Amino acid sequence: MSESTTHDHDAVSPWTPSRQQWASLFEDEPRYRVDQLWTGLYHHDLDPIDITNLPKPLRRRIGQQHQPALTPAAEQQTIDGDTLKWLWSMPDGAEVETVLMHYPKRSTVCISSQAGCAMGCGFCATGQAGYQRNLTVGEILEQVVAARRAATIRSRRLSNVVFMGMGEPMANYDQVLEAIGRLIADFEIGARNITVSTVGLVPQMLRFAEEGLQVGLALSLHAANDELRTSLVPVNRRHPIDELVAACQLFRERTRRRVSLEWAMIDAVNDRDQDVAELADVATRARAHVNLIPLNPTPGWPTTGSPPERVAAFAADLSARGVNVTVRANRGTDIDAACGQLAGGPNRRSGTESPVSLDRHR
Ligand code: SAH
Ligand code: SF4
Repeated sequence: MSESTTHDHDAVSPWTPSRQQWASLFEDEPRYRVDQLWTGLYHHDLDPIDITNLPKPLRRRIGQQHQPALTPAAEQQTIDGDTLKWLWSMPDGAEVETVLMHYPKRSTVCISSQAGCAMGCGFCATGQAGYQRNLTVGEILEQVVAARRAATIRSRRLSNVVFMGMGEPMANYDQVLEAIGRLIADFEIGARNITVSTVGLVPQMLRFAEEGLQVGLALSLHAANDELRTSLVPVNRRHPIDELVAACQLFRERTRRRVSLEWAMIDAVNDRDQDVAELADVATRARAHVNLIPLNPTPGWPTTGSPPERVAAFAADLSARGVNVTVRANRGTDIDAACGQLAGGPNRRSGTESPVSLDRHR
């Protein structure tokens, strides 16, 4: 455990600096010290203070300016232990959440890219809470470190990372891109096992397509006509559906990967026959795959998710129209841990289970 007991507000996360930045901080040290630090941070998931092959005075020196940014405020897991959620608090009081999900063949962490979100989608708990700030590279990566530590304890290997937690990753583009680079190069997570989900910020989607990465892109569509989509996802006014379709096409051309269209099924809102037809048209034009997920209830939104029969019928209808479709199960709804609807707001502790452990250890 860390020796630092108080958190310095000006401290930087040890996972924020690049290797080169560490090298310039270590100018007066033998060159292999940076390698030792880097290996400790990225291969052994250690806080600098716990990297014992570094001399203690050096660890202390690092600790003066570099301290982990995320302190666990609460930790919850489902009864089967397959889904784990953390609520983190940061030195400035901002809070974010992270969810780790174990599946038979993979373990996926769902991470946040911002504290809050400015996009204001009414059905989303994060949108309801509003925007606080962008996360730093270190704050993004520390979530992965925590998930990997927890996975290792269960003899599981963290294989997948999805940017589907709090915030809009494309609105924090530079930090997210840098974090992705580190995930691939240093955490050794395959680019194809990383997915960035966006509300549809077209300029950034186009830029992302040109980065030469094999990272997956998910577009939160939820409605396939502009009037309905604008009512659900206000940013649609700026980037309407035709622009989104063009961005998906470009992404496909540049990366040879198809975009997945996310569709949270809302009872009697976007699960009608008309919606199937419109979605089939958009998915075909965008040459995209469709993921259906029933909407998770949130306190600030009156409508509920479509019943399972409706989800199944909707999926069958799409499939009959030649669309590639997957129905995704909600994970961890009993601890409010459904990926993508992490609640920074009033319901964040309203899980039907009480937290199994609540450790404040810093
Ligand atoms: N801001 C990005 C990524 C975070 S949200 C985005 O919007 O894509 C991750 C996913 O969760 C998105 O597809 C989002 O639309 C979805 N989501 C948000 N609130 C939800 C809810 N209440 N039920 C189901 N999915 C939800
Ligand atoms: Fe932001 Fe995504 Fe929630 Fe919309 S759905 S408010 S973009 S986090």
